[in-house]
Amino acid sequence: MRKNIVAGNWKMNNDLSETETLIRELKLQNKPADVEVMIAPSFTNLLQAFNTLKENPIEVVAQNMHFAESGAYTGEVSGPMLKSLGIKTVILGHSERRAYFGETDEMLAKKVDAALENEFRVIFCFGEELKDRKADNHETIVESQIKNALFHLDASALKNIVLAYEPVWAIGTGETASPEQAQEMHAFIRKTMADNYGTDVADGVSILYGGSVKPNNAKEIFSKPDVDGGLIGGASLNAEDFFAIANAF
Ligand code: PEP
Repeated sequence: MRKNIVAGNWKMNNDLSETETLIRELKLQNKPADVEVMIAPSFTNLLQAFNTLKENPIEVVAQNMHFAESGAYTGEVSGPMLKSLGIKTVILGHSERRAYFGETDEMLAKKVDAALENEFRVIFCFGEELKDRKADNHETIVESQIKNALFHLDASALKNIVLAYEPVWAIGTGETASPEQAQEMHAFIRKTMADNYGTDVADGVSILYGGSVKPNNAKEIFSKPDVDGGLIGGASLNAEDFFAIANAF
């Protein structure tokens, strides 16, 4: 059966000492059974976070990577670099990467390929903007984001893909998709996967919801049958809040 996952995306927050402090606090929290818990610190703190959590079930993951193995890409970080630290999972396609750094579906397809070649698990993010939802285009947009970046993959590669539906209008805004809106979209995503890869693959893919998940709304969102966890931004910067969410299944 598919896994429940709660992943904290720290974005460009926490210097080294703040990272160490937050990890110390995270270690004190009660770990949920049957939920994979991940944190994604900044690149500069990945190694320290990874080493500090070596004996701990919290997995340290990367927020992004470049598609090239190495070369003249100033300021970028490659899959082999992350792999050499021991990182096993990478987030790709976050809406902030798409909006502020020009990441397109085509570029993301290359990043997904590079990540899988480097044997990473990929948390692939996508989601519609407010204008798409208002125009009732949200399903078309989401379907094309998934198809363009993932549907060239073989079914066997899908076991290393986690989907993260993050409506852009709900990220960092305090505005959450209602549990019903989340379920409706997650069911649509699973059907899109089933239509292309069959129900066995679709039923095995974890689909996370992201967008202003907090301790007070996580339980209702996670109770929906096609919601397999969350990608958490703001609330992942507080250890108690993050673990209240991870324990909300
Ligand atoms: C995110 O950035 O992936 C996210 C969901 O952020 P927030 O929880 O702050 O809305």
